[in-house]
Amino acid sequence: MNNTLATRNAMSKKPASDAADLAAQAFATALERELAQRGLPGGPDRDSLMRAAASACREQLARRWAVTQQADAARGEAAAVRRVHYLSMEFLMGRALANALAALQLDAPLRAALLAQGQSLSDVLEREPDAALGNGGLGRLAACFLDSFAELGLPSFGYGLRYQYGMFAQGIQGGRQVESPDDWLRAGNPWEIHRPELRYPVGFGGRVQVEEGGARRWLPAETLVAEAYDFIVPAHHSERVSTLRQWHAAAEAPIDFKAFCQGDYAAAAKHRVAADALNWVLYPDDSTEAGRELRLKQEAFLVSASLQDLIQRHLREGGELRSLGRRNAIHLNDTHPALAPAELMRLLMDEQGLGWDEAWAITRQAISYTNHTLMPEALETWPVRMFEALLPRHLDIIYEINHRFLAEVRQRFPGDEGLIARVSLIDEGGAYGGERRVRMAALSIVASHRVNGVAALHSELMVQTIFADYARLFPERFHNVTNGVTPRRWLQQANPALSALIDARIGRGWRQDLGQLAQLKPLAADVGLGRELQAVKRANKEKLAALIRRELGLVVSPDSLFDVQIKRIHEYKRQLLNILHVIARYQAIVANPGADWTPRTVVIAGKAASAYQMAKSIIQLAHDVARVVNSDPRVGDKLKLAYLPNYGVSLAETIIPAADLSEQISTAGTEASGTGNMKFALNGALTIGTWDGANIEMAEAMGVENMFVFGLRTEAVAQIKALGYDPRLYVEENLQLKRVIDAIAQGDFSNGDTGRYRALVDKLLGSDPYLLMADFADYLAAQARVDALFRQPEAWAERALRNIGGMGWFSSDRTIAEYVDRVWSVQSLR
Ligand SMILES: *Cc1c(COP(=O)(O)O)cnc(C)c1O
Repeated sequence: MNNTLATRNAMSKKPASDAADLAAQAFATALERELAQRGLPGGPDRDSLMRAAASACREQLARRWAVTQQADAARGEAAAVRRVHYLSMEFLMGRALANALAALQLDAPLRAALLAQGQSLSDVLEREPDAALGNGGLGRLAACFLDSFAELGLPSFGYGLRYQYGMFAQGIQGGRQVESPDDWLRAGNPWEIHRPELRYPVGFGGRVQVEEGGARRWLPAETLVAEAYDFIVPAHHSERVSTLRQWHAAAEAPIDFKAFCQGDYAAAAKHRVAADALNWVLYPDDSTEAGRELRLKQEAFLVSASLQDLIQRHLREGGELRSLGRRNAIHLNDTHPALAPAELMRLLMDEQGLGWDEAWAITRQAISYTNHTLMPEALETWPVRMFEALLPRHLDIIYEINHRFLAEVRQRFPGDEGLIARVSLIDEGGAYGGERRVRMAALSIVASHRVNGVAALHSELMVQTIFADYARLFPERFHNVTNGVTPRRWLQQANPALSALIDARIGRGWRQDLGQLAQLKPLAADVGLGRELQAVKRANKEKLAALIRRELGLVVSPDSLFDVQIKRIHEYKRQLLNILHVIARYQAIVANPGADWTPRTVVIAGKAASAYQMAKSIIQLAHDVARVVNSDPRVGDKLKLAYLPNYGVSLAETIIPAADLSEQISTAGTEASGTGNMKFALNGALTIGTWDGANIEMAEAMGVENMFVFGLRTEAVAQIKALGYDPRLYVEENLQLKRVIDAIAQGDFSNGDTGRYRALVDKLLGSDPYLLMADFADYLAAQARVDALFRQPEAWAERALRNIGGMGWFSSDRTIAEYVDRVWSVQSLR
């Protein structure tokens, strides 16, 4: 890192007051321009103020960005850090204005300038739409990494797609999820810089021609053009600005002029519409063939444009092709960009004229891969037939990689054809009704010099289960790098009151070095500090209560325990287990309303993938249960259930600081890491969680006695399944559980409709693959311990402080430093 640190230090800083004056001026000028353009009679509205503030930041950031790019381009041939290219189909950026203001230290001057307009900063910040170009944790991780790239001064590019309508906006109608386009670019994006000079052709279809001498040449049937938009991300403690380069697909010829002149406008625009389809949304519904094909095209488009851009930059900066892999790291965020090795080989051989061995050496040096899931059914594969139609040259190359790889395996393990079938890059069709498929994870592993999991348990299971054969072949490739989150967004920005409290006790250094939070540990028993922490939490809970009232018309008490589960809706994350607990509690309250209940507000938020029917059914059940519980006069404040729609980064920033309890209750062995768990603990929520993902390392860092751990562990889960798991036995044995299941099945929450949740109940009583029935009793026991502790505010606050104090290791700065060390440095190439 020394080289980049030196660069960072060389970039001088302006004195703050000077900067504040400049900022106020820039804001005033931008506001004038904004108002002149819009001609608002009644003075500026919040949208105008937001855009003016953004444009004032943008000018400064664009200047810093240019300096950063120059510094990176000028770094010496001997630099120990390679330039990192982080390829990801998802970047869940959220809003950018508050972050930019903090990075530029302009929050105070802007607040003052806005006050002069009679507006509060927070109201203006709310007007910015979220850049929600992601689905969940994997995309948010990529966004935290961009922040740490800037902060650590790492020469880097994030590469993604510029989806015009994000994933989707979630609405709720009659308790059901409805999806609509999330038109986040409607008013433009002040944080992006259009780069019309950066354009690359990307081909699809056609055929491969064999030339004289055996060289191969791809003649695509269709060519799109990738156009670059740079989304800029500032550091907070230097003037570095990192870049997310997002690709936009355009047709090669804007319209078919001949068709246009003949009056056939639909035909004239055909190519344009076909190209534009790549820009619309992340994860086109994969329940149709057309949706799957579009997704594969998006992946190929991202990879090809990014690699062409990288090669061109490397050559422009005077690099030789031979040093491309030594100077550039190409990182695959899961297998979505796993076409990268095939595309890099194609570019190096077909376009740059290298031979196979040279191209392969470069590819292996450059590429590394992070796995994010252990579920075999979630590993990405594509039909060979789709490759033949869309990516024939890539298929050729993949076959050749496979041929050479399998020859090597045969040499090392002669006669082991079972092994050959298991590790081959091609699934010959046994598992998919005869269809041959390309295994993207296999391709990623074979072509990488490093493969990592995202938490200790996950990395261990990865080499013991899904990738066991590859780990035997290439033991030195596999590593663990535990995830982290950026403290700038998830503590400083999301929770200013807690940040101020921490500053007062241990200083401000934690923003840059989160490990300093350990200084809170010896203060955890300080009753005065505990009370201050409770006051901060209480104020945050009032804000969330106000939001719940605005959004849902539901009144909840800030005195109640705020019990929160927010994340993608998925069976393995077990929101359903949470709902079963709510039902059990409801039934118990109704049976004994006079008992001394610890009041609870259960908050759930999350989107279900549009084709995932079971997840949608869980959302509907949550709404049905909420309707019954929230309107039952016997219950009152003792229990409320609030489902907040359209979960995203900004909503998370409001909810997390207000949580008392963080629900991290996935079946052990299923959650790769989790990062939501980290954000909650960092904000002083206690975790109720299984021994899964990063929960384990968190428990070890903060002391397991400061977490409510429950449930079967990974080995026990495997054992129960091996012995033949029968969920009915658990239901028959547990009267409380039986009542809960019966109530759902009988239609108690669906106005007597016994059909609505039949599939859901049948699955719970049938296979219950995520072991909800087996973990129910222990979960309820843990919830009882939560109730008991919440009644002792001093003890609760002490544990919350121990949680915060233990979270220093979970900064994405530490994660990125580890990636640099083990994956991206020149040394990691041996
Ligand atoms: C952190 C975060 C996630 C990941 O949450 P998990 O609980 O780890 O699954 C998903 N979405 C958003 C918006 C986030 O901020």
